[in-house]
Amino acid sequence: MNVKKINNHKKQSKILKKKNKDKQRLNQYRQNNLSLKETKKHAEASLHAIQEMLNKIPSSCEQCSSNFDSTNSDHLDDWNMTFNGSKVILTCKDCLDISNEPEVNPC
Ligand SMILES: [Zn+2]
Repeated sequence: MNVKKINNHKKQSKILKKKNKDKQRLNQYRQNNLSLKETKKHAEASLHAIQEMLNKIPSSCEQCSSNFDSTNSDHLDDWNMTFNGSKVILTCKDCLDISNEPEVNPC
């Protein structure tokens, strides 16, 4: 009778331990799942920000309205992109050259 009791007790503690492990595993799983969700949320947010920024980039020069070709590496290299608050201002190479020319002294 006494032996049986101990056995029962041992069995119960084993089950309890297993339950605890399961609980830990579940918690870990939940945390992993949560951080995964968070990462996804962040990724979506930054993707959204990039898309929003791309939408704000004008397709032409601010000054002469010549078309900006985002697939043209020359344009990407030579055109000037300035951020005015949330607005993006594109200036083509030609207009940059003009504005970079030294101003004629009226004197
Ligand atoms: Zn221009």
